[in-house]
Formats: sequence, structure tokens, C-alpha cells
Amino acid sequence: MRTRQIVLCAVLFLLTAVRHPLDADVRGCQCDVTHPESLAAQKECSLCAEAEKVPAYQEVFFLKDRNPTKPNRILALPRVHTPGAHPLSSLSADQRHVLWAAALARAAEAWGDGWAIAYNGEEKRTQCHAHLHIGKLLPDQENEHFIVVTTVGDIPAPEHAGLWVHPVGGKLHVHLGEQVNETVLER
Ligand SMILES: [Zn+2]
Ligand SMILES: [Zn+2]
Repeated sequence: MRTRQIVLCAVLFLLTAVRHPLDADVRGCQCDVTHPESLAAQKECSLCAEAEKVPAYQEVFFLKDRNPTKPNRILALPRVHTPGAHPLSSLSADQRHVLWAAALARAAEAWGDGWAIAYNGEEKRTQCHAHLHIGKLLPDQENEHFIVVTTVGDIPAPEHAGLWVHPVGGKLHVHLGEQVNETVLER
């Protein structure tokens, strides 16, 4: 029964969280994973609660976006929690490397080279736990605000802003400077 309630809560939060993805702010996050009941009470801590269900040895896990209006989205998340808004910059270089490598592999598996991975800045997120949005890149999203990197280890980790990444000619474009980035992805 309790499991059913937890699943229902998880579905409800995902529906709520992704309905207003662009008008939230997680800079004041205080998810306390030592008190699981507090995670359930704060909807911005729901992905922290999801991470707690994953074995500690599993460094990265994936969730399907449960918003029915976004059937083509996958989330990639680190198992580890970091304080506050869990910025990518608070993960170690190794942890970021593992996260990006897993996310890129999953993206390529689903969409060949037509994928993009987006990370929203902490002023425009509804969830505290770090998460990358994986999806199919929409047409006509290219702009001039990118750097080119050749390995996932070179993907930068901005402290507050977001970024999005996609493959171009065997390298990666990392588009920087925006808070809202998941809008480059097919829903
Ligand atoms: Zn967390
Ligand atoms: Zn680009």
C-alpha cells in the first residue's frame, strides 16, 4: 500500500513539476535526505527522493519524463546529492564525467546523432536534484552562443546558468548563457 502511495506521489509530482518547468527557482533548496519524510513534503525535493531509491553503487540513473505532454523525454541523474540546488559545478569532475558519458550514450541510443541534452539553470528549475534532459533536438535551434569540445570531460559546469549540448561533425557544441534550455528538445 505504501509503495502504491509512493508511486502515486511520484507520478503526481512529475505531472506538477513539469507542467510549470520554466517559472520556478531552486536557489533556496534545502532537501534533507537524512529525513525522507521531509523530502515527500517538499515537491522540489521529489527527485532527491527518487535518487534515494537507487542503490548507492549506481552512479547514474534514468527516469522517463512522466508528463504525458513530453513523451519523448528522458532524465539522466547522478545518484549522489550535493547541497542546495545541486549545481553541476558541485559534482566532482569524475562524477560529471560519468553523468555526461552515460547521458550521451543513452541519447545516441535513442536518437542517433539527432539528440540534444539540456540542463536548466537554477533560477528556472522546479527540482533541486541535478538532472539532465535528454531528447530529440528540434529543428532551427542553432545559434552562435556555443563552444566546441571534443570530450565529455571538457563540458563546462557553469555555477548558476544552464547549458545544452549536441553533436556536430564528431564534436560537441556546448551552448551556454541561458537559464532555460530544455525548450530546444522535442516534448
Ligand atoms: Zn538530491
Ligand atoms: Zn550548436
